[in-house]
Amino acid sequence: MNVAARHILIVGAGHAGGVAAATLRQTGFTGAITLIGGEAHPPYERPPLSKELLAGAIPVEKTYLRPLAFYTENGIAFRPGETAVAIDRAAQRVELANGDTVPYDALLLTLGARARRLALPGADHPRVLYLRDIVDSLALREHLNTGARIAVIGAGFIGLEAAAVARKHGAAVTVLEVQREPLQRVCAPEIGRFMATLHRRNGVNLRTGVAVVAIEEKGGALEIRTADGETVAADIVLAGIGAQPNVELAHAAGLAVEDGIVTDEFGRTSDPNVFAAGDVTRHFNPLLGRKLRLEAWQNAQNQAMAVAKVMAGGDRPHAEVPWFWTDQYDVNLQIAGAPKRWDDLVWRGGPDDKAFTVFAMQDGKPVAATTMNNGREMRPAREMIARGRAVDPARLADAKVKLQDLARET
Ligand code: NAP
Repeated sequence: MNVAARHILIVGAGHAGGVAAATLRQTGFTGAITLIGGEAHPPYERPPLSKELLAGAIPVEKTYLRPLAFYTENGIAFRPGETAVAIDRAAQRVELANGDTVPYDALLLTLGARARRLALPGADHPRVLYLRDIVDSLALREHLNTGARIAVIGAGFIGLEAAAVARKHGAAVTVLEVQREPLQRVCAPEIGRFMATLHRRNGVNLRTGVAVVAIEEKGGALEIRTADGETVAADIVLAGIGAQPNVELAHAAGLAVEDGIVTDEFGRTSDPNVFAAGDVTRHFNPLLGRKLRLEAWQNAQNQAMAVAKVMAGGDRPHAEVPWFWTDQYDVNLQIAGAPKRWDDLVWRGGPDDKAFTVFAMQDGKPVAATTMNNGREMRPAREMIARGRAVDPARLADAKVKLQDLARET
């Protein structure tokens, strides 16, 4: 499609940007590639930031997709620490904060997302932290000591993963979540309840249905006040209250934006010379038949790869069942699918078992699956969701029936 492009400019050197640059070269694109990113690090993967890197179990370099030398060796002009401030689509060039302009034949926007900021009195206190990049992870790590009091606002992936690491380091952890259960953006309330029990068993003071209204420093400690009049004392606050896509550049350039840069299944935006991939996109998923935005490793990796191949002349759409995973304490939870609704849950095993799988069903068809320490069932579960055919719920619930066999039959 864009085989004629002599210079592909990638703006955003996160996971998606790094994967796209490498994929362009691997697929034989011989033109020039420039990769611009605001951070000091080469492209890296984010899952370790709230797990192994936060726990101090790996060095920063282990998070890098590829060593810095890879980019020079592969003729990729990597420009870290540089920020794009405007896109001139008519002239096909991008303006940088340092005054430079970079021309392009084709542009790929992998701008990612940023942590949503708390908007309440006291939220600007320097000990109110966020967790989105390497700098954030290293800063938070400094505080995870025995006896440190940590208040986590938000029981999404960030809040719960950080809470688990903090407990392992002996910190006293309180989690305050506005929803009735944790992880409500990505899974069923029943799974949220399971994760709540897991955290409480591990000594977390997890409170749900709680809105934080103010943070105040008192005698050196931070006092977090909730709408029901309670207070929580802490040394630091971690806010994990969601992410918002970095769409401003695209919006100002007149590209179609709907809480994410709108793309089709090939990563094409409303401008034929501009593509987008990763967290920043609201992309069409042909398997689900709708547009969605995903903030997850799989999308940063596989969507970016697919879009780069299209930019290098390929014609295959990106179409996958969304997939997420998390590791907390001794639990590995994997989630496939992103349904808007379901009318039934089918359990293979139960919350008190060592492992289980739960399917969310709509009209007799599996639309999502969660495995708990049961990752081997994830592949057949994803196949079944992708096919979207009805499954006998009695056989699905029977843990003695191999999911691989059921997936083959349906
Ligand atoms: P998240 O998954 O959106 O969870 C944030 C939670 O905080 C939501 O339940 C939210 O409720 C709640 N919340 C919002 N405002 C609040 C407030 N003022 N007080 C108390 N609770 C509040 O976001 P996240 O955990 O910050 O993660 C950011 C992004 O990174 C997400 O897309 C996440 O999926 C991704 N991530 C993924 C992984 C993984 O896949 N393992 C790991 C880390 C991060 P509402 O829904 O009502 O706003």
